[in-house]
Amino acid sequence: MAKKFNRAMYFLDQKDMPTHWYNIQADLPEPLPPTLNPMTKQPATPEFMHALFPMECILQEVNTADRYIEIPDEVLEIYRTWRPTVLHRAYRLEKALDTPAKIFYKYEGTNQAGSHKPNTAVAQAYYNKQEGIKRIATETGAGQWGSALAFAGALFDIEIKVYMVRISYDQKPYRRIAMEVWGANCVPSPSPDTKTGRDMLAKWPDCPGSLGLAISEAVEDAVSREDTHYSLGSVVNHVLLHQTIIGEETRKQMEMADAYPDIIVGCIGGGSNFAGQFLPWVPDKLSGKKKDLRIICVEPESCPTVTKGLYAFDYGDAVGLGPIVKMYTLGHGFIPPPIHAGGLRYHGMAPIICHLHRLGLVEAQAVPQTKVFDAGMLFARTEGIISAPEPCHDLRVAIDEALKCREEGKSKTILIAHSGHGHFDLAAYEKYLSGELVDYAYPEEEVRKAQAELPQVSL
Ligand SMILES: *Cc1c(COP(=O)(O)O)cnc(C)c1O
Repeated sequence: MAKKFNRAMYFLDQKDMPTHWYNIQADLPEPLPPTLNPMTKQPATPEFMHALFPMECILQEVNTADRYIEIPDEVLEIYRTWRPTVLHRAYRLEKALDTPAKIFYKYEGTNQAGSHKPNTAVAQAYYNKQEGIKRIATETGAGQWGSALAFAGALFDIEIKVYMVRISYDQKPYRRIAMEVWGANCVPSPSPDTKTGRDMLAKWPDCPGSLGLAISEAVEDAVSREDTHYSLGSVVNHVLLHQTIIGEETRKQMEMADAYPDIIVGCIGGGSNFAGQFLPWVPDKLSGKKKDLRIICVEPESCPTVTKGLYAFDYGDAVGLGPIVKMYTLGHGFIPPPIHAGGLRYHGMAPIICHLHRLGLVEAQAVPQTKVFDAGMLFARTEGIISAPEPCHDLRVAIDEALKCREEGKSKTILIAHSGHGHFDLAAYEKYLSGELVDYAYPEEEVRKAQAELPQVSL
């Protein structure tokens, strides 16, 4: 008799790799609210946005006409140095949980920079190069975005300046060194290189920084120089668009596995990796093909943007220099507790995800740091991958759902959007192993204060 063959990996051939990104804006039942100019508080014009971004990205940002947008050949060529990524079946995790659930994960940690972020970094570097831009300023939290853009900058010969959130700069020196190896210039934020940074340092010399503050510094840098653009690693529509290559590939791979997810789970910092996975599945929910598909966004309990935020117009950055968008927000001045998932320490959320949450198409859960690492440990000891603290958030909820399946004696198919490895996060694992990792209470008072400072918008 033939031995039982359990396929644990689904490979897509490079010739079958998707050639288009999926643009959810063409399928939204209601359009997104407009992006506003922070000075006028009126809808931002393309001219205003063009001081920050290449025109091609601005057009993608507001494109409501085209469901699919062609990926440029030069970008596809670079994608092919690591894509398609593999879809895995987590047999060993299923066994450890003794669950009837089928657990799949799409793993974005195999590329040169170790997370999903190069999917957009490469596209943005390409569009900037096309416009003759020589230099890009950006912010980074845990260092993943800075690494991805530094890597893309090296490929396109663009100078990269990275403002790295101080707490991560101190906790994760190896990320900074990686950026420098790829040729980028990385400084801790708040930095003395911008007015925003100098003002903050004068008020609070030991400020741990925040993503919002680092964004302010990078935006200030970009608007003050003709040869420089700004680049965002998450939140905005064109970044989510570039990430949809993940979900487009996964749809083909789930078909190869003869499976369809009941639950898709992923972590949200600004929302890009998870949106990249789940957006291509939303049409099935809208059309009724899979009405009961659950899409679960997972966030830290100490920075619970969707589960506890206000749905309001707010600045994307901490100081009020950048565009204003309608989103769930904890207040742009809110500085989240120093959890290890640096990529999830952000006061706002992608407007597309917030909009879909308002429409009842996605749900959200908040989880505490120690339980998140419990899940990361189990995953490392079953599937072998040492996950970044961010995707450990999705592992937590996926494991909880699989355990529910065991209790209820029901099988469900769970798809995890795994955003990257944790090889630069071992200090956090060391804290966990030595019992020093702590949970932070939700800083309600701080949030209420920050939410009192939202911009006054009359639209
Ligand atoms: C940046 C990052 C995140 C959070 O950002 P999103 O835009 O929400 O994806 C999650 N996971 C990893 C590994 C990251 O680097």
